[in-house]
Amino acid sequence: MLTTRHLEDLDAQTYQEYTATGRGLVLLPTGATEQHGPHMPLGVDAMLARAVCAAVADDVDALVAPAFCYGYKSQPRSGGGNHRIGTTSLSAQALILQTHDVVIELFRHGIRKVAVVNGHFENYQFLYEGLDLAVRTARLLGMEDSRAMLLSYWDHVDDETLRAVFPDGFHGWDIEHGGVLETSLMLRLHPEKVDMSRAPTHPPAEPAPYDIFPEHPARTPISGCLSSPAGATAERGDLLFDTVRSGISRAISAELRQ
Ligand code: ZN
Ligand code: MN
Repeated sequence: MLTTRHLEDLDAQTYQEYTATGRGLVLLPTGATEQHGPHMPLGVDAMLARAVCAAVADDVDALVAPAFCYGYKSQPRSGGGNHRIGTTSLSAQALILQTHDVVIELFRHGIRKVAVVNGHFENYQFLYEGLDLAVRTARLLGMEDSRAMLLSYWDHVDDETLRAVFPDGFHGWDIEHGGVLETSLMLRLHPEKVDMSRAPTHPPAEPAPYDIFPEHPARTPISGCLSSPAGATAERGDLLFDTVRSGISRAISAELRQ
């Protein structure tokens, strides 16, 4: 009988009993350490992925692995840029290998189904690569029923919620960095970590459709937010959290729990 769904709080023997059921499913939250404007902490992406995983784990009878708290480099057009203070990132190679290594370990323990729940825009392709390599390797090693799944939580916001949360128009998930989406979710989940008196009110960033190296800081808003979080509320966070939770639980149930 599990008393917690968090892997880091389980003892090894109880975990072994869980894996021995053959129905083991582990959710892996992934985030970043990245500036999120003057009104929110550096750890937002991992905090949100972790909270989503904790709720989904109850719905689909899963465990939640310790989160990845560092992610791939923050990019100007989706995270404000890696030049900013506080942002602390991994190389692509490091994130691919970290994903591969952790997922292979879970397979070795007897877990056969892993779902990575991403909370940092820039991570996606490197998580994809790490998962692909891990599943291929596991199958070559004889663990032929090994399977994995990858998703970013914002892709599970339905159209009705989108209209309710962005009544004045939606500008795309890439520029939601430090904006209404993340700030509303934080106000719902960790209100003590948000200071709305410091929230910037500038218009949405309109970054040029290319990147340059080295990055020029003047190309993105000085606040570090790519859109204003001024419309964020805990009620909107509630709507967002519910749609994300149910969308992800449905998808994981359909793919890994049928
Ligand atoms: Zn973020
Ligand atoms: Mn991010």
